[in-house]
Amino acid sequence: MTPLFPALTDAPADRPAVRFGERSLTYGELAAAAGATAGRLRDARRVAVWATPTMETAVAVVAALLAGVPAVPLNPKSGERELGHILSDSAPGLVLTAPDDRLPAPVRDLPRLDVDVHGTGPVPVPEAHAEESDPALIVYTSGTTGPPKGAVIPRRALASTLDALADAWEWTGDDVLVHGLPLFHVHGLVLGVLGPLRRGGSVRHLGRFTTQGVARELNTGATMLFGVPTMYHRIAEAVTGDPELVRALTGARLLVSGSAALPVHDHGRIATATGRRVIERYGMTETLMNTSIRADGEARPGTVGVPLPGVELRLVEEDGSEVAAYDGETVGEIQVRGPNLFTGYLNRPDATAAAFTADGWFRTGDMAVRDPDGYVRIVGRKATDLIKSGGYKIGAGEIENALLEHPGVREAAVTGEPDDDLGERIVAWIVPADPESPPALEELAAHVARRLAPHKRPRVVRHLDALPRNDMGKIMKRALAHG
Ligand code: ATP
Ligand code: MG
Repeated sequence: MTPLFPALTDAPADRPAVRFGERSLTYGELAAAAGATAGRLRDARRVAVWATPTMETAVAVVAALLAGVPAVPLNPKSGERELGHILSDSAPGLVLTAPDDRLPAPVRDLPRLDVDVHGTGPVPVPEAHAEESDPALIVYTSGTTGPPKGAVIPRRALASTLDALADAWEWTGDDVLVHGLPLFHVHGLVLGVLGPLRRGGSVRHLGRFTTQGVARELNTGATMLFGVPTMYHRIAEAVTGDPELVRALTGARLLVSGSAALPVHDHGRIATATGRRVIERYGMTETLMNTSIRADGEARPGTVGVPLPGVELRLVEEDGSEVAAYDGETVGEIQVRGPNLFTGYLNRPDATAAAFTADGWFRTGDMAVRDPDGYVRIVGRKATDLIKSGGYKIGAGEIENALLEHPGVREAAVTGEPDDDLGERIVAWIVPADPESPPALEELAAHVARRLAPHKRPRVVRHLDALPRNDMGKIMKRALAHG
């Protein structure tokens, strides 16, 4: 196939490619370092990458892709049990690390290869013999709904999703991305690192996300920001008192959110303070990116835009029939087909088979409606966010959005629990703005009933100090439901 990163050989050698804090590499330096590392992977069948937010991780992953050796990014914050599960499942032959990494027990047992980011070697051209369908990455899902599964992502999927995003976002080699996400998921690794490199542009990683870091980079030449909703929440909280941040966001070409739903309240606060709208895109480990608001499209709050070029998308009812309506109301499961899809879960033929329909559509498990112009609105996950109460199917997302508009609510998550009368009753888990005077059930129920409909009001309110979230800021509803 054609090379994944043409700029490694074609771009001027002194063009900036990757920066992590004070350390940076040009395209010439990255090609030499990744080429040297790739040369040392020749005999490997599969490698793990200790995916700290460092230059070594970026070089390691590019090297593995150049060598045509599938890479498994590991979350350095995972517990030993999860790491043990991932290592025995994926069986890598070695682990790529930074020289000063200290590895926990199960990872320590692997042969280790320290990446030299200043190394020099010729750039291998594996694309000459690599097939489009060859596995490029094995990325474990976030584990939001169950133990993480290893999604086998082929080279074709990386190329097609990044090129589809380039089309939707008018993303070019002139773009400079600000990045503050971890590097062991699709968002931070594929979009955040491989994306700029495929375009021949550059990425500046903050190491650790701060609103000051975002402001500094966007005010000194960066053009785009990718973030998860918890980051945009922090931006929304900080932006009114921070003229530097306002200037940064106002001047940015593109502000993109994904990995979970961006609360409408935060979208609105950022728009009010800066005049800029955050655009949302929707994807998964298994499918890479499916939909997005386009750069020249309307960033309607609460929507994830339209299918990306090459992606087929349909909504399907429980009985298997397709939702024909574009009425903003009829809910169906999102199913997708296209070159962006994974090839299967590692060692899980059962789960792989269950994930696809007989005619090859991938069942995302996400429920959505479509607006008249085709914009997709995710209402939540089938497993945890769809509440069947009093004969209605109710999405948790819109209730969460309504609750977040209440001044007494800082964070909100909505679940269903068994109810003799209603089938399920709506439960609101609330982090109060002021723990001394949390808003009462009657108050919140009336607030939701006024905005949405009476049957969508919570019947129970539970107060928490914080919502359980994973490393991407996703709310772990499993942990809520189990108390
Ligand atoms: P697991 O599959 O292990 O339970 P996970 O589904 O959270 O974990 P990921 O593949 O990282 O793992 O996340 C994909 C999911 O994230 C999607 O299925 C969807 O539910 C959610 N998601 C991603 N982007 C958006 C978005 N813009 N709006 C709403 N939800 C989103
Ligand atoms: Mg999932």
